[in-house]
This record gives sequence, structure tokens and C-alpha cells, in this order.
Amino acid sequence: MKGWNGRILRIDLSKGKVTHQEFDAEFAAKFVGGRGFAAKILWDETKPGVPPLSPDNLLIMAAGPLTGLALPSSGKMVIAAKSPLTGGYGDGNLGSLAAVHLRRAGFDAIVVSGVAHSPRYISIVDESVQVEDAKDFWGMGAFETESILKRKHGKTVGVLTIGQGGENLVRYASVVSQEGRSGGRPGMGAVMGSKKLKAVVVEGNKEIPVADGSAIREIGAEGYKNIVSNPNYSFFMRQGTMATVEWSQTASILPAYNFRESVFDKADAIGGESAEKIKVAQKGCPNCNMICGGIIEDHENNRSELDYENVVMLGSNIGLSDLKQIAHLNRMADDYGLDTISLGNTIGFAMEASEKRLVQERLEWGSYEDAVRLIDEIVHGKNLGTLLAKGTKATADEIGHGSEKWAMNVKGLEMSAYNCHSAPGMALGLSTSSIGAHHKESWVVGWEINFDRHSYDSQKAAKVIEHQRIRGGIMECLVTCKFPYADMGLTVPYYVRLFEAATGIKLSIDDINALGDRIYSLIRAFWVREYGPRWNRTLDYPPARWFEEAPQKGPERGVKLDRQGYDRLLNNYYEMRGWDHNGVPLSSTLRQQGLADVAQTIGSMQRIG
Ligand code: SF4
Repeated sequence: MKGWNGRILRIDLSKGKVTHQEFDAEFAAKFVGGRGFAAKILWDETKPGVPPLSPDNLLIMAAGPLTGLALPSSGKMVIAAKSPLTGGYGDGNLGSLAAVHLRRAGFDAIVVSGVAHSPRYISIVDESVQVEDAKDFWGMGAFETESILKRKHGKTVGVLTIGQGGENLVRYASVVSQEGRSGGRPGMGAVMGSKKLKAVVVEGNKEIPVADGSAIREIGAEGYKNIVSNPNYSFFMRQGTMATVEWSQTASILPAYNFRESVFDKADAIGGESAEKIKVAQKGCPNCNMICGGIIEDHENNRSELDYENVVMLGSNIGLSDLKQIAHLNRMADDYGLDTISLGNTIGFAMEASEKRLVQERLEWGSYEDAVRLIDEIVHGKNLGTLLAKGTKATADEIGHGSEKWAMNVKGLEMSAYNCHSAPGMALGLSTSSIGAHHKESWVVGWEINFDRHSYDSQKAAKVIEHQRIRGGIMECLVTCKFPYADMGLTVPYYVRLFEAATGIKLSIDDINALGDRIYSLIRAFWVREYGPRWNRTLDYPPARWFEEAPQKGPERGVKLDRQGYDRLLNNYYEMRGWDHNGVPLSSTLRQQGLADVAQTIGSMQRIG
């Protein structure tokens, strides 16, 4: 088998047992890697209803067949588990040298089970795997932990770590690497913390087996060259994703004041132009030549890596317009190991709850001091932070008074930085994402605005699925970054050539779509299995605020989503996916997608129900 190492590293922290599991070509071809491997392993190996923070949940770190190869943006991996934030499938990708080293160590994935009796970290040097004492690191931030581990194991090793957020089981704690790369929004850091696993250190020194090494080099070089010669390249290198702030403001989808407004008076102060003026450096993931992380210094001269999502969620969404202050909040989140999107939502929700006198704490919109205090309280479980550490949905459930209508989440995962009260297609994409309200799998809003912004045309459902198949399907399985495809003109046929060079397997466009559909049905089945009788189609709805409260400012003021229109769009989506009226994959769909065992489980659940 070429393209894959064919081995998964298994670590049972309860028993301190390390094993190597081989997988066959059929598993590799059917689930490919990354998200595909993670979803399959979680489906097969976790007991239905497993508590996410229990030893029986699995923490999966999975690379794909393109990871680590000399080609654009191949330095990524997926971190997955059953989510403690949503109770469903959770994953996220991050760029890290750990991804490259894992493949070079001779593995395609790590599966961690059990719980250690005291803090541990895992050290991998090729075949040699040790579970080491991490008592000295417990209580440290992610940056210091990584720095110490690199001093001990070598500065070129890959490190994945959690901060105090993961240790203290904040439900949206993430896994961090390289001071700013962060992944696993739906609480993968908390799952890691629940296992008392502080970090994973990886060093690999082997060749990654590929079908045609010279073709990989040639096609990889062609990709790098095409990226650099793309007309968007120099601007992207200057501003990365930050230019999206100005775009979102013009398009009236920029979240402000907990998504109450879709424009922000001070958007210019937090946009790409402002960030570019004070940018001091730039960094990115391994193997990437369009590094998108713009570094600025906060007011204490500490460096912070900014992108669109973290600036908006910790900026306009909480009414804050000082980029250096936003940079500091972002740095706190990265060091504590908290997802910035969920964190910004949670702070915005708390500020609105305070304004409405639903909580005792007095918080002011745009108050940097309040935000700093809340972040510390969230991480250390103090005052209102104890509740906010569980996420906006749980907080709204607790404080009541209709606050669930403006707790901006889907299935418990906080909303990405797009205010879609007047973009039904994007709202559908966010609401049907595999992990809850997340943008990365279907970014149809640019197309939608040019198409017919306010319509509920079924073409929007088709466009969401088209995006999900590529961005949430094949790319999350390969695992590779979407930006070269989305912004620099690398095409799906280009990735088909890379996949063939790596694995020797030639995929057709139909094969790619079938893979994406298989992964979406499998992940959807996981949600249905875990939610049981609680599962229903309203879980695929965006928050009530978008249906009931229109923004008061900007060109899209007064516009809100139409519930009947959204319902029709969701029906179109389900029909195109081969799912029933509640968004449950039909037995015939699952069988046709090669998931007969899943069909049996879902079918028997429905018979019992
Ligand atoms: Fe990482 Fe950005 Fe490069 Fe993508 S474009 S691989 S996110 S640095």
C-alpha cells in the first residue's frame, strides 16, 4: 500500500499500553485519512452514549495521504473526538510540524483511550513511544509547555499541547501548536485534558511511502508555482484572511454585538488595512507558501497571530475595536488553549445577558478589562466563568428568559463569524456543518451574494453540498488546507493528480463526491446515534435571532430569515443528500454509500423509537 504508512498508533493511558494497529487498503481507500479515519473509528469503537469526558471516549489525531509531502499546505492534521460541547461528532484541523513528523514516524493516526492516573505526555521518536510524566507542565500555558518540550526533545520536533483551558475542561478548549495554530474547536482540548494528557511530542525520520515520488515533487512544485503566480497572491500574503473584515462589512454579514448587528461602526479599525500597518511578522503551517497568519504585537509587546475569525469574534462581536487589545485577548486564548470563535461568542453572549440584567455581573460592550476578566474566570472556573466555560447553549439553558434565542450556536457549537440574517444559503451551510455552526465546510456566501442573496432557491442547497463534498469531504480526509483551492486557483483535478501520485489510486470526480457523501452520512449517523430520541430537524436550524430580530444598521437592516423559506431549503438539502425529513440518512442511502453496518444500527434505533 503506497501513500499511507498503514499503521495507527494506539495508546491506552489507563493501562499505559502502546500498540501498533495495521489497517488494510480497503479501509484506506474508503475513508482516506483525517476526518474519514476519525469518523469511522469513533463510530466503530465508542459505545453509544459514551460521556465525552470519560476514559471511554477516544481522542484521535489523524493525518492523511498528502500530509507531510512536499506540496502546498500539506502540514495539517485532524483532531477528533465525541465533543463535550455538543455531544456529537467533533473535530478540527490544525497546521503543525506534529502532522509532518507523525507521518515520518511511520504512522497515519494516533488513537488515545483511557485516562492516566497523573498528568502525562506522549513522546514519539519513530517506532519508540514513551508515556512520560507531565506533572511539571500541568498548570502551564500552551506556549511555555511547547517551549520546554522543545528544549528537552529538540527544537524541530512537532508538539501538540493543551493549555489550562483543556486541563480545566472548558468545553471549547482546543489543541495548540506553534503558538497560534489551534484546532479541535468543539472541545478536543478538554477531551485531552480529561485523559490527563498534556502534550504529544513527535519526531519522525523516515521517508513517507508514496507511489510516485518524482510525480509528487513535480506536481507539488507546479502547485507552489501556480500559487505564487496567482493574481491574489501578493494581497493574500499582505493581509491573509484579515481582508475579509472589510468584505464582510460591505456585505453586511460582519457580526457585531453578539450578532445583533451585521455592520460595525469601527470595522476599519480592525480590518485588513489596519492590521497590515502594524504587522511585525507572518507565519503559517508547515509546507505552506501562502502563510496566512499575520503577527502583531499587543500593548505588552507580546506577539499574537491574527486572522479574520478571531479578530471579529473577539472584536466587533463584543464591541471592541482596538486591534492591540484584541491581539492580547487572542494571545490569552491561544495560550490557555481556548477556541477563539466560541470564546468570542461566549463573551458577547455574557455582555448581552448583563445588558438585559439576566446575570449579576456588570459587563460593558467593548470593555477590554471585562473581557480579560471573563477569560480568566472561564479558564479558572470562577464566578460567571464557571457557567460560560460550558458554552453559550448550556449558559442559556441555565439562565433562561428566552436567552436561547440569542445564544448563537448550532447543536451547541458557537457560530463562526458570519451574520447570516440575510444569507440563507450560508445559514444552511453553517447549520448543516458536521460539527455544529462552522464555516470551513461550506463558504457559499460569496457566491450567494452574487447569485440572489435573499432567495431560498434550491440551487443554494446544491451549492452547500458541492462545497461540503470538497472542503468538508476530500480535503478534510487528505488532510490539506482549503486556501490554495479556495483563493489561489488550485483545482480539484490538481488534487486528484496529487492523490494518484501519492497512492497510485486514480479518483474520478464522482469518486470524490461519493467519498464526501459517505463521510457526511457517517458523521450524521453518529450524531443521530448519540442524540437518540432527542434528534430532530430543528437541530439543523440557525439560532432564532436570525429569524426573529433584524439588524438595525447597514444596507441589510430590517432583513431577517424566513422560517418557511429556510424549511424548504432544508428539505431540498435533505432530499439531495438522501436523508429523511429529520435529516437522518435513509437506509438505502447508507447501503449505497458502503455503510451497511451503519444502516443496520440506525434502522434498529428507528424501529425501537
Ligand atoms: Fe496554514 Fe494559512 Fe497556509 Fe492554510 S494558508 S496551510 S491555514 S498558513
